[in-house]
Amino acid sequence: MTKLKLHWQIFISMIIGVGIGIYFQNFGIDNLIYSIITSFGTIFVRLLKMIIVPLIFTSIIIGVASIKDSSRLGRLGIKTILYYTMTSLFAIIIGLTLTNLVQPGVGINLGENEGFDASKLATPGSPAEILIRMIPLNPFNAASNGDMLGIIFFAIFLGISISRLKGKHQSTLSNFFEAMFQAIMKMTQSIIMLAPIGVLGLITKAVSNSGFEIFTAVGKYMATIALGLSIHIFIILPIFFLIMTRINPIKHYKGMASAMATAFSTSSSSATLPVTMRCVKENAGISNETTSFVLPMGATVNMDGTALYECAGVIFISQVLGIELSLTQQFTVVITALLASIGAAGIPSAGLVMIFIVTQAVGFKDEDVALIVGTMLAVDRPLDMFRTMVNITSDSIGAAVIAKSEGENLYPNG
Ligand code: ASP
Repeated sequence: MTKLKLHWQIFISMIIGVGIGIYFQNFGIDNLIYSIITSFGTIFVRLLKMIIVPLIFTSIIIGVASIKDSSRLGRLGIKTILYYTMTSLFAIIIGLTLTNLVQPGVGINLGENEGFDASKLATPGSPAEILIRMIPLNPFNAASNGDMLGIIFFAIFLGISISRLKGKHQSTLSNFFEAMFQAIMKMTQSIIMLAPIGVLGLITKAVSNSGFEIFTAVGKYMATIALGLSIHIFIILPIFFLIMTRINPIKHYKGMASAMATAFSTSSSSATLPVTMRCVKENAGISNETTSFVLPMGATVNMDGTALYECAGVIFISQVLGIELSLTQQFTVVITALLASIGAAGIPSAGLVMIFIVTQAVGFKDEDVALIVGTMLAVDRPLDMFRTMVNITSDSIGAAVIAKSEGENLYPNG
């Protein structure tokens, strides 16, 4: 097994995980072997999560501070923001079109889920609050609470300030963060070795915990979202990649396979970040500078799959409620879906909670929405796995496209 490439090992683990998961689903999960297997998954995710904050912090600082030329920094920043916005909007339009065409919410009766406790879903606040909350009151609190947007804001600001220092202070700080970053990447390397066994545990748990009855009730809704995500990840993004880099997208997808599988099994862009960074650097040969600039921010800010989901989800809700959205309201959905995807944390089901931002923006009452969101939550896991995979794939394509536009040579080893 160890001679196989890592992504093949992970792939095989996923298949075995599905088999074991089905077994435990049928024969009960109350036993020692099940707990041992699933705890591998928990350990793997905890290890990844452990390094996220220092990884994001150091990589953004060195990414920003290493670009001394402020016009280059500005150019990279604009390209990155353009890429994030453009691909997310594309995804949203796919979601909007498909849900309007398929109408998955029309005629659905979700009465049986009435026992759902809406207070379990904390509503996320207004779109303006998302932007204001990017500025952390205390960067140490942001770090200990895992407030990624806050950490990113502080790290970018600190990185810019370090690049403007002169002489000794600049080199001391740059060297320190660079060395720290290298150490964290070494930790990543060790953790990734555990990916096959970790993924096995995660998939076993996901499969064994899934009940199929509820899936059939909202099957059309799930199929619509899955179709939208497939169009984005298998058609739109590869075409964009091909046009911009002139490289066969299959090569890129192969190079990113370990990151994609990790995203799929952890449902967390943030937890996947260390693996994404490693794949982008080692396999695609993209420079440290671009990787550190584009990916950590992308893991929190650029979520195409989530953006598609926010939009499609709200149109679905409106269909279940029997409310026809006006053109202006649909436009509001597009813009707030974008904001919600930016504000969503890179953790499981974060996108589902953010849906309240969009429903509030179009004037739906939280009580009406909560019941439907309850059902959506019950079937969220597989959709979350898929959209997280789309999210990190888009991040990696962003890194590749931006690196290429900066004159880097991608896939130098063929
Ligand atoms: N789980 C997703 C991610 O980490 C966010 C979401 O729930 O859409 O990228």
